[in-house]
Amino acid sequence: MERPAGVLLDIDGVLVVSWDPVPGAVDAVARLRSGGVPMRFVTNTTSRSAGEIAASLRGVGFDLEDSELLTAGDLTRALLDREFAGADAMVLDEGPGVVPGSVTVVQGARRERARVVVVGGAGESFEWSAINSALRALLAGAALVGVHGAEMWRTDEGACLDGGAYLRMLASVSGVEPLIVGKPAPTMFEAACASIGIEPTRAAMVGDDLHSDVLAAQALGIRGVLVRTGKFHPGVLETAGDVPDQVIDSVASLPAMLGL
Ligand SMILES: [Mg+2]
Repeated sequence: MERPAGVLLDIDGVLVVSWDPVPGAVDAVARLRSGGVPMRFVTNTTSRSAGEIAASLRGVGFDLEDSELLTAGDLTRALLDREFAGADAMVLDEGPGVVPGSVTVVQGARRERARVVVVGGAGESFEWSAINSALRALLAGAALVGVHGAEMWRTDEGACLDGGAYLRMLASVSGVEPLIVGKPAPTMFEAACASIGIEPTRAAMVGDDLHSDVLAAQALGIRGVLVRTGKFHPGVLETAGDVPDQVIDSVASLPAMLGL
């Protein structure tokens, strides 16, 4: 594979699983670093803030700067600041990743009159009354913003429905078209390439989610590299309409594939 001018790396399932490093991943990042390949770490994770994620990764041995990390939460906050400044917002999000910017996060009955519904990472707060308040706000004319579109992730307990699945459900029932910020929407990939200063066609994206990471990146002209770690399961390659540009056992194989 010709060496890309920049590599975008998904974090969960590629570099770490439940915040433990994938074997060989720390060394792989170090080799890309010493080989002079610009990297951006792109994550839909909303259970932690960007600073916490970067600190956790450094804590288990990864060499990265805060500025190399792009989170869907940060990009969503920028969107809310730009498009919904001053508005009441209902936020369905399990973590601190989407802390309010210039919107007013409302609770209780006020949620049903919010001007924008924001759906982030799923968790136990996605319960009956919250989901239905979101639906009622949308039926009353609120906009729908998805922090990301991923429908599933994997934890130590097994597969879990993620925010994208709830987003799709709310959009389908309310008829409101969602505005999605994180993967698989183009926003995060484009922001990562722009921050390196390269065209998407000169970048590679490494991910464990065939659709949300790899095929979504390929749709923008980015070279897609699927790893067989994290949420990867072989069946996904058989049922997908499109194929990844490259499949590797884990990110540990990436430096050698790039001649590093
Ligand atoms: Mg992942």
